[in-house]
Amino acid sequence: MKTAQRLDNLGTETAFRVAQAAADWKAQGNQVYPFHLGDLNFPMAGHIVEAMDQAIKDGKTGYCPGPGIPELRAALAADIGSRRGMSIDPAEVIVTTGGKPVITKFLQAVMDPGEGVLYPNPGFPIYESQIEYLGGTALPYRYVPTEDGFAIDLDHLRASIDDKTVAIIYNDLQNPISAESTDAEREAIAAIAQEFDLWVLSDEAYFEMRYKGRSTSIASLDGMRERTVILYTFSKKFAMTGSRLGCAVAPPEVAGAISTMNTNDESCTTQYVQWAGIAALQGPQDSVGRMLEVLRKRRDATCSIINSIPGMSVATPGSTFYVFPDVTEAMEAKGIATLADFSTEALHSTGVSFCTREHFGRRQGGEDRHYIRLAYSGIGVDEINEGLGLLK
Ligand code: PLP
Repeated sequence: MKTAQRLDNLGTETAFRVAQAAADWKAQGNQVYPFHLGDLNFPMAGHIVEAMDQAIKDGKTGYCPGPGIPELRAALAADIGSRRGMSIDPAEVIVTTGGKPVITKFLQAVMDPGEGVLYPNPGFPIYESQIEYLGGTALPYRYVPTEDGFAIDLDHLRASIDDKTVAIIYNDLQNPISAESTDAEREAIAAIAQEFDLWVLSDEAYFEMRYKGRSTSIASLDGMRERTVILYTFSKKFAMTGSRLGCAVAPPEVAGAISTMNTNDESCTTQYVQWAGIAALQGPQDSVGRMLEVLRKRRDATCSIINSIPGMSVATPGSTFYVFPDVTEAMEAKGIATLADFSTEALHSTGVSFCTREHFGRRQGGEDRHYIRLAYSGIGVDEINEGLGLLK
């Protein structure tokens, strides 16, 4: 049977294939050290579980409004606004089934086929696959290594803009490379968006996953509010990846479009999960702080061993739960030419499972270094030491 032509342009999150390879290796009786998925091995906090349970017992199990229950939209507006120094009207908040749908729905709302969207590369792979699936032109912008991390190559970004470019996807506190903008870099992105009259999708999935300081939303900068859609998710901060709860904070024309898309696509986000979301936002926050403390120890263990391996190096990131070491020299020393072979060799000889640069969008011309991504969100310090010790 014939299927639609547009499927030719549908990419995916190939990290899930790495997860399958790791699961297969484990099923054969081998030890696996899981560094591949950005999932968290922390339980959902007790008060959130209780709120979900209570909502089910109270019969909050039916359909509810497409843009979300009013109580959650109000709680989100207050919480997201206060943490960003912005005043947000609940009408601007549209609840979604996690953060990911905001990417697709944003693109559907602002991009016509043939129009271009700038996006970080390496970056969350769904940006590239959804731009292309929806018939747009994917315009990757790149990062350059700095002494203490990575910076956006602003000249390259600017040079990619033409009269068909309609939007920039911007992911401060970045997956997979944990890049964090300086104020100057964020302001430069905002200035470019205004100069070329572009929409901005500010992917803030890791806004509060940081080990020091405070995050700044590009939406809070002058002149940005009316052109910026914030992607917010409960997934990482509240260890709720499987509950599928997030939202878009968007100007009225996009908020209205996303709300209508919700009604078309899902009808609504699961009602009792939304009630649990209110408990997450308004209940005790200590489990978030405790989780970040544990993650910090894992980060330090990971970076310390990686930097002790000949031919590997990484700066210690101040946010997210990923490290993105350069392994070019380690591969050369082993005589391994591709990252695919390097990761297979690592899995089969040590059980260490990770994603590589190739899982985060198509490689760009001129890129000659090799990177891997280690997620330490789902693996304890003892296992980190053991697994990376074997890798060493
Ligand atoms: N954006 C980024 C940068 C991510 O890394 C992720 C998940 O890993 C998402 C969005 C999607 O998050 P969610 O699980 O809430 O859909």
